[in-house]
Amino acid sequence: MSGIHVVQSPDRSIKELKGVGDKVAEKLSGIGITGMNDVLFTLPAGYIDHSVVNLNEAPDGANITIEGTVKTEPQVAFFRKGKSRLTFFMDVDGIYVKITFFNQPYLKSKIINGEFARLYGKFNRNKLEINGTKLIFEAGGGYQVKYPLGGVMQAKTFQKIVRSAFETATFNNDLPDTLKAKYKLMPIKDALHALHFPDSPDTVKAARRTIKFYELYHYQLKIMERRQKERVRSDRFIVDYDIDKLKLFIDTLPFELTGDQKKSVNDICRDFKQNISMHRLLQGDVGSGKTIVAGICVYAVKTIGEQSAVMVPTEVLANQHYESFKDTYGDELVIAKLTGTTKPAEKRDILARLAAGEIDLLVGTHSLIEDDVLFDRLSFIIIDEQHRFGVNQRDKLNNKAYRKNVLYMTATPIPRTLSITSYGDMDVSVIREMPAGRIPIETEWRRFKELDYVLGFVKSEIDKGHSAYIVAPLIEESETLDLKNVYEIHEIFEEYFSPEDVVLVHGRMKAEEKNEAMRSFEALEKPLLVSTTVIEVGINVPNATAIVIFNAERFGLSTLHQLRGRVGRSSKKSYCVLVSDPATENAKQRMDIMTSTTDGFVLSERDLEMRGPGDYFGVRQSGLPQFKVADITEDYRILEVARDEAVKVYESNNL
Ligand code: ADP
Ligand code: MG
Repeated sequence: MSGIHVVQSPDRSIKELKGVGDKVAEKLSGIGITGMNDVLFTLPAGYIDHSVVNLNEAPDGANITIEGTVKTEPQVAFFRKGKSRLTFFMDVDGIYVKITFFNQPYLKSKIINGEFARLYGKFNRNKLEINGTKLIFEAGGGYQVKYPLGGVMQAKTFQKIVRSAFETATFNNDLPDTLKAKYKLMPIKDALHALHFPDSPDTVKAARRTIKFYELYHYQLKIMERRQKERVRSDRFIVDYDIDKLKLFIDTLPFELTGDQKKSVNDICRDFKQNISMHRLLQGDVGSGKTIVAGICVYAVKTIGEQSAVMVPTEVLANQHYESFKDTYGDELVIAKLTGTTKPAEKRDILARLAAGEIDLLVGTHSLIEDDVLFDRLSFIIIDEQHRFGVNQRDKLNNKAYRKNVLYMTATPIPRTLSITSYGDMDVSVIREMPAGRIPIETEWRRFKELDYVLGFVKSEIDKGHSAYIVAPLIEESETLDLKNVYEIHEIFEEYFSPEDVVLVHGRMKAEEKNEAMRSFEALEKPLLVSTTVIEVGINVPNATAIVIFNAERFGLSTLHQLRGRVGRSSKKSYCVLVSDPATENAKQRMDIMTSTTDGFVLSERDLEMRGPGDYFGVRQSGLPQFKVADITEDYRILEVARDEAVKVYESNNL
């Protein structure tokens, strides 16, 4: 159940524990508790504080434990269906309060006029009443624990089993003493004990901190282990490129690299010179200039006469990269493109030249992983939009490498916390800074009743000779909610402009129709594209300066950000208009965030905060662990420290 083991033989059967026979064992296994370790890590979901409070200081509405003297004979009234009410008065800390218990008539014999009583209930300060929920017999107050047991057994019963587990199990795997001292952590056994048998809020807090650290630290150690496996050491991986030639090439580029681009190029080139296989993630928003970084490194590989490959998820992207690399290299490099639509004769020719080492760079889709694609010396692999490929697909390409050096690229900014947890086995380079001269996209939020304004605004952009994207949801019937169907929006725009100016694209169209519509928009024959989110990936029309997103509240921040990234691809100022009448606070917040920042990394952090890691777009779903106490969005500081400590362990082992 918990992936982290604190005891020797963690799977040792719970039947060895006191109070666990076949029946109990079966009940517990039904909720996933089968081994010793599971028992210890089934931690209380909450605590009820039974320390006695002074009623004069108790807040209104609080659930509290009080004690005092019974002042009247208890009275019981019965109602229909066996319901009942028991009432009496008590003197509690000098206050005369009315106590009521519902449906516990049997308590009558336990409550004796003139004697002491202690009970737990909800306090109503105005009426000076307490709605009792339980009478407490044992002295000393303390905490009652609530376990997430799905009702299969009482917390008290389970606590006895836990007690027996503490007596039976041999604890190991504690944190190193140095870490415990440095971060003031408890021994793991004590921390677990403090959570199962709490004695004060402070110890519970300290214990939780310890377990959080423990979970995150061990998880990071596991990632480091995986990372070490991934990073094989051999001189074979060295790409001993010609730095002088590379510098000359960089000088021919029509622009100066940004600081982050330079740093990323350096990171990759340093990997080349090391005798370790490269396993690096390059992150950067759309338009941040990742492609040129990859291109420079491809050139480095070419200086030793070896080959590179770029794999992308769609044909559109393959075309774009191919064109952009051709621009970058001129005649300096031989480039070829291989996709699902490459003609057989051309493919044969490409494969022959590839195997002969005549092609320096092969750009393509998953066609690259086919068995008949054989390289002469493939020494650098770039996988773009890497999350869109399966592990098997990536491995298949990687296995074609002569020197295994792989650069993964993604335009989905990954929040640092997730990058540490989900991508911790990779080295990471980040391009945050946008190329100079880029004018930020201006975003505004309008209500649907302002449609006339929106139409007028789009017209003003079209009148300048620019293009615009209009995004709307595709739904069966728009009587549902207030959603504006893509068909309706299409009609509105056709009416306001003219049918000659507007194309429609959605997922249900035939491929040829869709391609023709896209083509006419890309060729600037038609200035307006009304579509569903099918345009999210790949399309590139620098002439487009406006994007209008209808029912924007339907989309998460990352999708909105990706959509917005369709514009702002030229030196012209671009705009994004969110049309939305958000019904929830969360949706309102998203609109506000979108209008306040264009930084993809800021957005991704906010997205993570708002949605939690489970839902986060673009995350390796399977890789994300379920922690018992730690929460990677809240416990960011602990995560970072745990990460640094885990790295130290591995570095001292001479990674
Ligand atoms: P990405 O791959 O990250 O989406 P690109 O590499 O396609 O971004 O870059 C987007 C555009 O910006 C391209 O036209 C590219 O030539 C240009 N570009 C890249 N780096 C710079 C830079 N440092 N200065 C100016 N323009 C740049
Ligand atoms: Mg290397």
